[in-house]
Amino acid sequence: MKCPRCSADLIVIEYNDVELDCCSSCGGLWFDSGEIDVLTEKSGGRRAIFRPATNVREPRLRCPMCRSRMDKRYMGVENPVLVDVCPSCDGLWLDRGELEQVLERAGATDPIANHLSKTFGGSRTHETGHENADSSPSA
Ligand SMILES: [Zn+2]
Ligand SMILES: [Zn+2]
Repeated sequence: MKCPRCSADLIVIEYNDVELDCCSSCGGLWFDSGEIDVLTEKSGGRRAIFRPATNVREPRLRCPMCRSRMDKRYMGVENPVLVDVCPSCDGLWLDRGELEQVLERAGATDPIANHLSKTFGGSRTHETGHENADSSPSA
């Protein structure tokens, strides 16, 4: 799938039985319908934490899964975070950093959040092996 934000490829990461798609470029995260349920389980399920967002000026994104236009939703009860939800396939898109905000505000000290912040936050220890790849285009 392609990132709805920047069109880079989404890479799949696995955590327990949950597969998440992460943008290799902008750090956004895609959650399938079932994955949202896993994440929101401890917070009372998705109905408890998603609310309609009106008067939002941000452009609507295209769902990377089914290409529908995604709706803006507020996620969380206090100080909600503005997220993108697909009305067609129930997927969820979070920009980089939004997951942490959501989980923090949902009051969840979730191992998934810890895992994700370790994976995407701070230093990346991803070795490419291409020593000169970024400085000199092949002659
Ligand atoms: Zn992206
Ligand atoms: Zn969709």
